[in-house]
Amino acid sequence: MTQAAALDFPTLIFASVCIAGFLGVFLIINWMQQRDVGALAWWGSAYLIGAAAITLWGAPDQIVKVPVVYAEALIFVACGMFWNGLRLFYGRDMRLSFSLAGAGGWLVLTQWPTLEEGSPHRVILGVTIVALYTFFMAFELGRERRKSLYSRTATVVVPLLHASIFLMPLGLRAWYPEVFATRWQTVFAVETMIYTVGTAFIVLLMVKDRHVHFYRKAATTDSLTGLFNRGAFLEAARNMHAVQSGRGEPVTLLMFDLDKFKSINDRFGHAVGDSALKVFAKVLQDSTRASDIVGRLGGEEFVAMIPGAIEDACVVAERLRVNFQEAGVVIDDIAVGATVSSGLATTYRPEATIDSLLLRADEALYRAKNSGRNRFIAADEEPGTEAARARWAARNKRADGKIGRFAARRGSQAAAAV
Ligand code: GH3
Ligand code: MG
Ligand code: MG
Repeated sequence: MTQAAALDFPTLIFASVCIAGFLGVFLIINWMQQRDVGALAWWGSAYLIGAAAITLWGAPDQIVKVPVVYAEALIFVACGMFWNGLRLFYGRDMRLSFSLAGAGGWLVLTQWPTLEEGSPHRVILGVTIVALYTFFMAFELGRERRKSLYSRTATVVVPLLHASIFLMPLGLRAWYPEVFATRWQTVFAVETMIYTVGTAFIVLLMVKDRHVHFYRKAATTDSLTGLFNRGAFLEAARNMHAVQSGRGEPVTLLMFDLDKFKSINDRFGHAVGDSALKVFAKVLQDSTRASDIVGRLGGEEFVAMIPGAIEDACVVAERLRVNFQEAGVVIDDIAVGATVSSGLATTYRPEATIDSLLLRADEALYRAKNSGRNRFIAADEEPGTEAARARWAARNKRADGKIGRFAARRGSQAAAAV
């Protein structure tokens, strides 16, 4: 406190102008490099307006002769713009009138003699407006669901802390009028400076996070169907296999291939073929659980991996076969009559590879095609499956309560869905 109070006020003002101005330019340059993030322009402009406001507010009267009330109003404009930038960033409606409400309210209320320059009430009104905008910013950040709980907590706690510090004059004035009179300005100036710099870093990290998320999604998604592409599916499948085999439990891979798809393309055109692929992708997603993994291997070949044994997978395969048979009767208002065949392969072995599962499932699929299509066939069991299955069953029996009930519930859910 003593050290902070020793800082020379004009120096602080000068440093604040430089920092806010520099960060404003920096954010605007960032916006020029990525025009799709319009929020950067709002945040950059807010910083520049903030820098202008501090200049007008702190500059000696001989240099700038602008009534201080306008400089203060500009600070509130900057706060409102920053808040609006957050709303834009999260795809919410912009509220321009609310952005300007703080400044408008300030210009009107300060006409009132109780709030004339130098009065403590005026200070309290000013910090309350800033704190309110900061609370609203924390609110926008807090209701964003996409972020992890950890980063959400951080982005909410920091503005709340800032807003609380800003509200300190209310308490200071009541309990420590002397501190309030002499030192609060410096303390707030330093705290605000730290907050201003920190906020610029946070918003840049938010923009970077969004880009990383976007490119990661693009790299792992099949653009036609929105499902996992081959690479993403294989990675997720490897993870599921590792987790399941760690618990001594099986995984089953289901490989799907639309029937006579070449003929669908030839008779109805490529666009209808594409629609059939999308319809199947939707059926695949709707007919499996969130804990299952589904993806498009390429062309008209799709895959799913479920944490469970062949009996569970047969229920899924049959449900999918029936659902797609129904959904494929009419596609794009054309009587297409699309169907699907699938091959299933289960493994209990930790050392099995996804490639070997794909191979076995593909071989079973080939048999399904040769036996007339629109059906599923399970691959031959791998050596040692019987012993593994017996061990698994014995363990499930021992843990009678939990796993048994879970299995029963899964069974009834599957039956209900078919
Ligand atoms: P089967 O019942 O034996 O599977 O017969 P099929 O005609 O489906 O078998 P095949 O694998 O020979 O044909 C696959 C066709 O899928 C060939 C290709 O033109 C078509 N295809 C692959 N990718 C796409 C795509 O993205 N869109 C469309 N419309 N067609 C595709
Ligand atoms: Mg094929
Ligand atoms: Mg096919």
